[in-house]
Amino acid sequence: MEYIEAMQDMSIEQLIAVIEVLQKSSDSYFYIMDMDADTYIATHQMLKRFPLENTVTSDARSVLQNKIVYPNDYPKLKEDIRQCMTGEKNIHSLEYRWFDRQGRIVWIECKGTMISGQNGHKLLFGRVTEMGKEAKADNITGLRREVRFQYDAEELLRDKPQTINYMMRIGIDNFKEINEKEGVEAGDNVLRELADCILATVDPKVDVYRLMSDEFMLMDAMPTCGKEPQTVYDEIRNRVAESVREKEYSCFYTISAGVMRDGFAGKNADTVQSLTEFALNEAKRNGKNQIAFFDRDAYDEYLKRLNIRKLMRRNINDDFNGFEVFYQPIVSVPDYRVIGAEALLRWHCEEFGSVSPGVFIPILEESGLIIPVGRFVLWQAAETCKRWRKIIPNFHINVNLSYVQIYKSDLLQDVDRCIEEVGIPPESLMLELTESGYIETDDRIKELFQELKTKNFDVALDDFGTGYSNMRYLQEIKATTVKIDRSFVVQALNNENDYNIITHIIDMVHSLGSSVCMEGIEKEEELRKMMQAKPDMIQGYYFGKPSPAAQFEKEFLQSASLR
Ligand code: C2E
Ligand code: MG
Ligand code: MG
Repeated sequence: MEYIEAMQDMSIEQLIAVIEVLQKSSDSYFYIMDMDADTYIATHQMLKRFPLENTVTSDARSVLQNKIVYPNDYPKLKEDIRQCMTGEKNIHSLEYRWFDRQGRIVWIECKGTMISGQNGHKLLFGRVTEMGKEAKADNITGLRREVRFQYDAEELLRDKPQTINYMMRIGIDNFKEINEKEGVEAGDNVLRELADCILATVDPKVDVYRLMSDEFMLMDAMPTCGKEPQTVYDEIRNRVAESVREKEYSCFYTISAGVMRDGFAGKNADTVQSLTEFALNEAKRNGKNQIAFFDRDAYDEYLKRLNIRKLMRRNINDDFNGFEVFYQPIVSVPDYRVIGAEALLRWHCEEFGSVSPGVFIPILEESGLIIPVGRFVLWQAAETCKRWRKIIPNFHINVNLSYVQIYKSDLLQDVDRCIEEVGIPPESLMLELTESGYIETDDRIKELFQELKTKNFDVALDDFGTGYSNMRYLQEIKATTVKIDRSFVVQALNNENDYNIITHIIDMVHSLGSSVCMEGIEKEEELRKMMQAKPDMIQGYYFGKPSPAAQFEKEFLQSASLR
């Protein structure tokens, strides 16, 4: 109490000097609020962090209300101040939210004591502490944590970005698996071991932080830079391998790293976090247990893909605006009659124009958006087929299915519902599945083929010749049709050996009771040569490129025979 009284004799200038001195040795921010004059006095340090214009702010309540305090929390603050003013209490203590200079919400704990000023004014003398910063150190690894990195990096990036040699983000490969299979304690041990390996390797002046979950950040700023990041990573990796060996492989793990070496000027800590995270993900995508350097072009490509995904999602919600189904004719051999068509999805947008299916289909698959879009294609194809069957009675449309639709949606139910709603027989649709290695080993695909066939749908094995092309598998799934990919056809056109292989494959497919559709025939001489191999159907630019339904009708449905 006597200390408080002693402060009554201090002038406001002296009090300001006191808070500035205290500030030098603290991460909290000190302030004085003159309740009677409605003035808020902040330290210079506080000014850097929060959107106050000067150390002395008049109209303090209004500035606090309009610029600093998160609106929903203001009534709480107002009530606490009222109680301090009326003498109901003389200690202010409140946890609530402020905005920082970037407009981000920050949880703070504000504490203060009411004192009387020299002029008799009621003064609140106190400190503001960022609650997030409290978790500055990590008890598992003994390292500083992400909040501290954020703070240090922000300062460095703002004041002297040119001094940064590199920032390296290190992640443990398959950490989740370690936690799940070996237990959380084993996971903690791995984190501890890796922290030790890092600290034993790097120059003591390199700052090391533990970020969230299994990631670490190394920040090397001048004048440290003893070693190249590649060397640092190699040394840490070797040390990790050695420690795993020493512990007799009781817990095996490897590490990947993403590095940013330059381009720090003008970036903030959040951006650097995302860019190093991107580089680390690249290292993991490339197969893990390696280092990747941030690459602007790859990042731009990644952003473009994100943008495409966003635009497609928007289009999907806008009644599939921008998506269109094109149709490419499939002709029978040897009369070259149009007996069907393949439905091929197209997507265009203002920003990128027409985007190739090779680009947008994988994005739809990764994001799961192929499920609604696949349904859209299915229904469109079914309705188109219904119209065209009035002109060519046995016309069928091939629809491509993605493995994502098979694994993550109820495909059988969708196709059943589709033909029922549209009112077409199942043999109007031929469902195409791409041949690829993992499909062969999965019984689910075999079952699906079987079930579709039982329901009288035709099924095609697409892109044959691009993947593992396993005859035994062909025999097992008994597709209605095998579609030979253009790349295989091109090889056969240029190489007699490959041509002989294709001929034999076609014979074998026939002996299994399936038919063959040859894809990608562009020229007459290609057709002539490939006809000798005796396919049953042909699809290629020679007979027609994929086109919108209206154009297809004009070109191919007037007469049922080509040439
Ligand atoms: P795919 O199913 O093998 O389709 C055949 C592709 O070969 C089509 O490419 C077609 O335009 C092209 N093509 C046909 N004849 C010729 C030719 O004579 N010369 C050349 N150079 N190319 C020819 P497109 O339309 O670019 O589609 C590429 C792939 O995208 C398709 O390969 C299919 O895997 C996928 N795709 C297209 N639409 C869909 C869809 O609705 N759903 C799913 N899941 N995938 C689709
Ligand atoms: Mg296809
Ligand atoms: Mg194909």
